[in-house]
Amino acid sequence: MVTDPVCRMQIDEKKAAGTSEYKGKTYYFCALSCKTRFDQDPEKFTKQQ
Ligand SMILES: [Zn+2]
Repeated sequence: MVTDPVCRMQIDEKKAAGTSEYKGKTYYFCALSCKTRFDQDPEKFTKQQ
């Protein structure tokens, strides 16, 4: 299980709706809307980790 950095939901990475790579790390998203928000401002969401 991984945490969607945008909505903080725990998701199965195999069922993720989308993924993004940022600074060499892969992030998984529950929905494409979360991926879009992350891609617009990845710094904001990775700081919360
Ligand atoms: Zn999400």
